[in-house]
Amino acid sequence: MDFLNLQLQHAPLETEIIEKITAILRKGDFINGDELKEFEREFADSHNVAAALGVNSGTDALFLALKALDIGPGDEVITTPFTFIATAEVIAQVGAKPVFVDIDPVTFCLDPQAVAQVITPRTKALLPVHIFGQLAAMDELMSLAKEHNLAIIEDACQAIGAERGGRRAGSFGEVGSFSFFPSKNLGGCGDGGMMTVRDKEVAERIRLFKNHGSSPQDKYTNLVLGINSRLDTMQAAILRIKMRSLPNYIENRRAHARAYNEALTSSGDIICPPIENTASVFHQYTIRTGQRDALQKYLGEQGIPTMIYYRTPLHMQPAFAYLGEGPEAFPEAEKASREVLSLPIYPEMPEADREEVVGAVHSFFASR
Ligand SMILES: *Cc1c(COP(=O)(O)O)cnc(C)c1O
Repeated sequence: MDFLNLQLQHAPLETEIIEKITAILRKGDFINGDELKEFEREFADSHNVAAALGVNSGTDALFLALKALDIGPGDEVITTPFTFIATAEVIAQVGAKPVFVDIDPVTFCLDPQAVAQVITPRTKALLPVHIFGQLAAMDELMSLAKEHNLAIIEDACQAIGAERGGRRAGSFGEVGSFSFFPSKNLGGCGDGGMMTVRDKEVAERIRLFKNHGSSPQDKYTNLVLGINSRLDTMQAAILRIKMRSLPNYIENRRAHARAYNEALTSSGDIICPPIENTASVFHQYTIRTGQRDALQKYLGEQGIPTMIYYRTPLHMQPAFAYLGEGPEAFPEAEKASREVLSLPIYPEMPEADREEVVGAVHSFFASR
């Protein structure tokens, strides 16, 4: 059984993708090409923001957001310890301090009440993560940001297409960051990322910075010191083709999640992820159980792959030891890291696979 199968996703699009790549190859339009410009425009329009900017990766999208908002040494950025390393890594890379707060045990996202308690005069931004495709508590976070004059940078790398109240993940904050890493809900064929930007001026600052600070009028006049971060024309072309299927991908992921929930809610001590009134696009389908390690081992023996996102909360990573946050600092994040298990989910997953997973989970708990 597969945890994710991209061959199944690409097979129906293969001819179209190859034709498009052949056309770009013949045209030689590799950097900042037409397909990129079209994709950026479509992305901005579908997210109802002033601009969308293609970049190298989701990590770069987060890094550039902090840079564009002038966040650096002496500043603090509040984020979650229950996420992929990139979220907090970039805060440290710009010279600022990541300030972790605990999560809501139901959504696994930042707990707004915990956020309120750690805001200081040095706090510059909130960096919520829409983890597993589940929208963070944006209403509460936005009112905190407004009250304390903070920017919001959304890590929407796992949540493309999630929406609440007609607003999409990535369009609530000043900047939204997306990843097209192949395993993401909209994955490219290599690395890639996108930034959604609400303000035109901020967008122009990012455009400058991500292109060596080169003047739009004269490429070899460098107005500021920047970096090189771009989304390749070929990736943009592939992503434009795949973007048309995104609503379908999301619908299929939700259907699998709904079926999992119906079948698993009363199995053992399992806690299923919330579905009703959530906007989740189910990048991961993540359950909790006190018998996580035994269940994972049992499923593995039946040939069922599972993953643990995330086994080590970031404050307990060696790289963040310098922050001095010991064990017990964030009890909900730590409890989650001991109890979570992500089951196979992807749009094209055969129903029979899902039923096999369900059957194996039931037999695990029946044998206890
Ligand atoms: C994937 C991911 C990133 C980083 O994206 P890359 O494109 O791999 O650099 C950042 N944050 C979260 C939550 C992610 O899942």
